[in-house]
Amino acid sequence: MSALKSLVLITVDCLRADHVSFLGYNRRTTPFLESLAAESVIFSTAIVAGAPTYYSFPGIMASRYPLALGRDVIGLAPHEPTIASVLNQSGYSSAAFVAGNPYLSPRFGYGAGFGDFQDFLNTDSALPSSGSNQVTKIRRTRWNQALAAACHKFGPAAFLYNELYFQYCQRLTSRTASSLDKLRRFPSADVIIDQACQWLSGHAGQPLFLWLHFIDPHCPYYPPLPALASMGNSDVSAFRARYVNSNWNRGDLGVTRLKRRRDQVIALYDSGIHWVDVQIGRLVNKLRDLCVWDNCVFALTADHGEEFLDHGGRYHSPSKVTDELIRVPLLIRAGEVKAQLVNTPFSLLDLAPTLLDAMDAPIPGSFRGNSCWSQVRDEKRWDGQAIVECITSCSNPFRLNDRLGARILAIREKRYKLVFNFGISTEQLFDLEADPHELHPVAHGVASPARRRLLEVARQHLTDSLNSRDLNQRLTARLRDLRLEWAESTAGVPI
Ligand SMILES: [Zn+2]
Repeated sequence: MSALKSLVLITVDCLRADHVSFLGYNRRTTPFLESLAAESVIFSTAIVAGAPTYYSFPGIMASRYPLALGRDVIGLAPHEPTIASVLNQSGYSSAAFVAGNPYLSPRFGYGAGFGDFQDFLNTDSALPSSGSNQVTKIRRTRWNQALAAACHKFGPAAFLYNELYFQYCQRLTSRTASSLDKLRRFPSADVIIDQACQWLSGHAGQPLFLWLHFIDPHCPYYPPLPALASMGNSDVSAFRARYVNSNWNRGDLGVTRLKRRRDQVIALYDSGIHWVDVQIGRLVNKLRDLCVWDNCVFALTADHGEEFLDHGGRYHSPSKVTDELIRVPLLIRAGEVKAQLVNTPFSLLDLAPTLLDAMDAPIPGSFRGNSCWSQVRDEKRWDGQAIVECITSCSNPFRLNDRLGARILAIREKRYKLVFNFGISTEQLFDLEADPHELHPVAHGVASPARRRLLEVARQHLTDSLNSRDLNQRLTARLRDLRLEWAESTAGVPI
């Protein structure tokens, strides 16, 4: 057995903290992780450094705020120190199996430092670029277009037309909804685990770093049948699942009508989480068989959450930093440390240094976060604070204009949360004890010491962002992006 500890890092797309049963969700989505929680450190309030995926992962992998190199830079800069590069330099064998998310590809720097990197983007199962792709578009005839235009001049007629047209589209596309596996647009967790297990078999006996990114809870929600059956939803057919997804994606329905189908959508989402849990059980068995498990740090977290009308929205809007989108599960298992629950807010910016610290590996000076491992080991508690930032309406970071929107910034403490939207010049303070669902901002003049404290944190963060900007990394990243954009435009490939 190697003296160096191995690391298994699992990230799950769109996994909100309050939908895993090891953090108290009333539906048993994660029974295997519950069993692991009994010997792990569980963080009840882990907060991402940015959202969605492309603003979250620089924090997870490089312990860096997403906008720190300038808002036009997406992903990691070439040669930017990451968990992977540190362990690569320490002689680790490493592999990443990333389930078809284009924002986590080598194009954005995520392949650096890995011996093997599989992103599944060369298959036809890549993630759709936006929710609008989920509904099969039916070509409208000229007559139909005229009818639609006429109906939309009158409210009730528009409502009727939309409903009939939706039902018509569903029936017309029913023939293609032959199975959930055919409807799914990305590799499910079992595919990722199969490949990971194969890789592990060829590399056991060496210090290892394995990163797996699952995307099963991502929309459109098409979980495998065994997961549906195990969660008590075996009666859901492929046609039904497609209908539920398409209805959920409609732009013509208000919140009241969408709410009628919300439970069905959540049942599909939860089943995707459960499938990930089952497959992680398979992975851990493999790690045990190969004698890797006992000398391994194992961590599971997510890049962001998912909204089910909590604040009127669906999916994971880049323009919101509400808790259902920024609070994620975090479980760290590292043999010798006592199982415990940490309730203090923990920024995922601190994850990379904490994991490297737990492995006795060096922590790069460029990491902005701090390790909390000594406090965890000594079971000490601290006052945690997390900063989250993203860009309003940036739903497609391949488009430069999307990346240049206004910043949204949130400072999250245990009780208070201050949210700035620089695009519309708003500043809202929430008292999460009195208002856990963030529905009623605290009036100005109330809780002034908390507001003052968080304002100072925000001011300091913005000052530090400018002063600590690594211009070399910024320019290297911009040059890479420009080269790729040029190559793609001359090759006629859309970017
Ligand atoms: Zn994501």
